[in-house]
Amino acid sequence: MSASGNNRILSSPVFLLLVFFLAMIIKGKAQEAVEGIHYATGQPVRLEFKGGRIESIKKIKKWSGPAKVYIAPGFFDNQVNGFAGVSFSFGNSDLRPEDILKATRELWKKGVTTYLPTLTTHSHEVLMKNFKVLGQNYSGDSLLGSIPGFHLEGPYINPEDGYRGAHPKAYVRLPDWEEFMKLYHASGKKILQVTLAPELEGAMEFIKKCKELGITVAIGHHNANRSQVDEAVGLGARIATHLGNGCANMINRHLNPLWPQLANEDLLISIICDGFHLNEEEIRVFYKVKGPERTIITSDVTSYAALEPGEYKTQTGETIELTREGMLRYPAQNVLYGSASPITKGVGHILKVTGCSLAEAVQMASTIPARLYGLTDRGRLEKGLRGDLVLFTLEDFKLTIQKTYVQGKKVFDLNHP
Ligand SMILES: [Zn+2]
Repeated sequence: MSASGNNRILSSPVFLLLVFFLAMIIKGKAQEAVEGIHYATGQPVRLEFKGGRIESIKKIKKWSGPAKVYIAPGFFDNQVNGFAGVSFSFGNSDLRPEDILKATRELWKKGVTTYLPTLTTHSHEVLMKNFKVLGQNYSGDSLLGSIPGFHLEGPYINPEDGYRGAHPKAYVRLPDWEEFMKLYHASGKKILQVTLAPELEGAMEFIKKCKELGITVAIGHHNANRSQVDEAVGLGARIATHLGNGCANMINRHLNPLWPQLANEDLLISIICDGFHLNEEEIRVFYKVKGPERTIITSDVTSYAALEPGEYKTQTGETIELTREGMLRYPAQNVLYGSASPITKGVGHILKVTGCSLAEAVQMASTIPARLYGLTDRGRLEKGLRGDLVLFTLEDFKLTIQKTYVQGKKVFDLNHP
């Protein structure tokens, strides 16, 4: 082709239009850079993404925004029973794929970029059905990898009042490996954690088998003594689920399940840090004993979280109340009916009651849970890791999420909700 032919093509309207559209596409795909105050170093930084991953983190001269906006790895909640009207656990097994997306999007608004949908004690049929729905839908493109797997809390827990908590007694049962294998396969082998009571017949054998499959075992809703706690941990149990809850009100001051779990140095703990489930001195003591390397902030949130305050009817007909402060009450018995606060609130609350640093609070809500499940691709601000970030302001120990990014994609912006 002659040179004049080339010039004609380059100046033709069709070619120019093509260049214009290509430029628009490239511009549309360009990842945005994010600036904020690094949650751990306190320095202003600029962070860039490439292919959904963190490409670079560079110090910048000064923060110019009107308010201090912190930048941190997205939060990781290992116990989400439901959210914003969606329940993973209860209901007549009517969980739908669109419900999973709805709960995930609502959690993003709270800065939670990774979570484990949690199924609690129920009939074999309901557990099978819901694990199947989750197993077939957790990896959809629109979820951006926010669900790495699931948590089964129960049904292999202590049936006694108090230890059982709100789990329905009719469905509490002894550890049953055959049943569990059916659930595990229904979930697409994505049950990452099981919470059980180690004192039950067959529990130690169950723990051993979980360890062989790489499933994290948590002990919870139990009344195990010291030797049972130590044996369970020796066999591979890693963490105590919501320490201080799922425990009877009246316990022996010397012999109770709290002391051995605090005393065992290899056992991590998760705590519900919503300001209602534990009092301040409990959190302070648990934190002093376990420290920021062995403590995880969890939420135990239910489907009532992120709804308007008011009265609701449960599926079984009870009237429950969600207060303005975010407490979920069952007025007939004057007890709590699960949690309604995402771990975002826990990050602020633990700062307030323990005096820990922001770096430690974020670590307990992101880095440590990611490490517990071996998810090395998240939980820290580092080059090469997933672009899962949260930007927030902090006032009076309350976090306000400004923006959330998952795999480098902005999924929430407070100013453009
Ligand atoms: Zn529980």
